[in-house]
Amino acid sequence: MSHVLIIEDESAIADTLIYAFNEMSIQATHMLLGGDALIELHKNHYDFVLLDVGLPDISGFDVCKKIRETSQIPILFLTARNHEIDRIVGLEIGADDYVTKPFSPREVVARVKAILRRIENYSSQANPAKNIFQFVVDELANRIQYQGQFLDLTRYEFLLLKTLISQPHRVFSRRLLMDIVWASAENTLERTVDAHIKTLRAKLRGIHAETEVIVTHRGMGYSLNA
Ligand code: CA
Repeated sequence: MSHVLIIEDESAIADTLIYAFNEMSIQATHMLLGGDALIELHKNHYDFVLLDVGLPDISGFDVCKKIRETSQIPILFLTARNHEIDRIVGLEIGADDYVTKPFSPREVVARVKAILRRIENYSSQANPAKNIFQFVVDELANRIQYQGQFLDLTRYEFLLLKTLISQPHRVFSRRLLMDIVWASAENTLERTVDAHIKTLRAKLRGIHAETEVIVTHRGMGYSLNA
């Protein structure tokens, strides 16, 4: 049974989520403070984190960064503010998705299940490492080597790059990349793709500054030209 940690200072919100998770046979534990939750995550095994951005002790963004130092556990942000910037920041620092309050607990549960399913699908594709041009995709370890060096990628950067590598020279539209990489494409902004492509390019340039392997096709999308 999956076990979700809900980090949320409003107990009423947490309670509705716990109820919705339990209905779907998913175990849920609730913590009110970010600091306590970080300790709890080290003590017990969890499969998923729901993280409120506005916590009283530490901001949800900082909790996310701390978790990402040691763990790739999926994180979904609960954001009260309807600011695009919060969502993009959340995704850039390694969250998997976000929902804006007020939300339907059932929708949150559906998102969590979709993300867990996607992770399961990716990890069950037990292909040996594939060497495409100067890239080596290690499916089992969710890692990609570029010119002999492992890239330090967030989950989304990994999925984006893996998608581009899967069909070199094919132009992927932003919409298609969102559909492939993000669980709930209709709620994800195309600029989110751009933001991740940008950080991905910087990492690739860190290894080989002269080569631009990801090409922008104006108004269309991106492709890998290896
Ligand atoms: Ca809050």
